[in-house]
Amino acid sequence: MSEKRNVYLDYSATTPTKPEVVETMIPYFTEKFGNPSAIYTIGANAKDAIDDARAKIAELINADPREIIFTSGGTESDNWAIIGTARKLQKKGKHIITTKIEHHAVLHSCAELEKEGFDVTYLNVDHDGIVDLDELKAAIRPDTILITVMMVNNEMGAVQPIAEIGKIAKEHNIVFHSDTVQALGNVPIDVKELGVDMISMSSHKIYGPKGIGAIYIRRGYNLPEYIYGGAQENKKRAGTENVPGIVGFGKAAELARINFDAHVKHVSELRDHFVKRVLAEIPHTYYNGSREHRHPGNANITFEYVEGESILLYLDAKGISTSSGSACSSKSLQPSHVLTAMGIPVVLIHGSIRFTFGDPTTMEDVDYAVDSLKEIIARLREITSMNVDLS
Ligand SMILES: *Cc1c(COP(=O)(O)O)cnc(C)c1O
Repeated sequence: MSEKRNVYLDYSATTPTKPEVVETMIPYFTEKFGNPSAIYTIGANAKDAIDDARAKIAELINADPREIIFTSGGTESDNWAIIGTARKLQKKGKHIITTKIEHHAVLHSCAELEKEGFDVTYLNVDHDGIVDLDELKAAIRPDTILITVMMVNNEMGAVQPIAEIGKIAKEHNIVFHSDTVQALGNVPIDVKELGVDMISMSSHKIYGPKGIGAIYIRRGYNLPEYIYGGAQENKKRAGTENVPGIVGFGKAAELARINFDAHVKHVSELRDHFVKRVLAEIPHTYYNGSREHRHPGNANITFEYVEGESILLYLDAKGISTSSGSACSSKSLQPSHVLTAMGIPVVLIHGSIRFTFGDPTTMEDVDYAVDSLKEIIARLREITSMNVDLS
């Protein structure tokens, strides 16, 4: 066994801010601190910096800069898109379609609307974690006002057929939102090809700072404002702008666009090596989710006969950081709603771990993680094997 090292394998929870990103942010805390709404030069300079960041984010998703509104992150964008649309269109209908595998920012927004009298259909997914388009079509009703389906799942990486869903939504004249937080920088996003009315984005998942994100709102779709106050963000989202955060997000988006191919190649090579070794060298392990339609840096693995929480603690003792699913559900011992929706039995869900790889990850990190896992799983199974026949 090699020497202990610190290996972070939780890039879907958050990413470190790239040094180039931090560097571009720093002046906006100090000498370039002006309020973007002011008419004097240091204010105007901050406004220019915001416009520049807006253009960079627009370029990453093939949008017009006027279609990008900054928010505090993916959660706010999801809440705004869903609750804002529901309230705007409630006279037309009160039915919303989403999936069972959404992030809690979407699920809990929908749950809130159910309390307000909206009716929500939660689509199933197949064993690969993908929604069925026929089930979606069958769920559409005359009073359906919104479809919200995530592009890439944060737990097991499945990529949904968003462009096809966009076509169906358009045919039925239904507003379509997608949470693309995990997709951004990892799978190509072209808002025109996808046929989306709104998408949610977050900076800290693409090597930018935390607490900043954006919503794309297609020109022609009038999403009502959600935060009331000043005239910032084209009167759509009030409050003095988080200028350093916006500048950092813009830089991270630029880097994500420039490095896209290299990033995807790097993380998918690490992931594939990891999965190949784990499945070959650790018995009774399963790879969860689609192999073909998948986030390039995601591996979700079930280790039969062991508890995920124990694996996480032993991994942490070896300097390896990872989580049992989404950051939100790993604090509770509830079985993952995503793996449950895929039809994975509860006993297997409890032995499931998400490993996500990022730009700073090396092949040595991956080998260290696999070597450590082999040792940990064998030890934990020794304890369990008093009760279970592993032959
Ligand atoms: C992280 C994440 C969010 C929340 O984004 P924040 O910027 O952390 O609020 C929403 N949806 C998905 C799929 C995510 O992975």
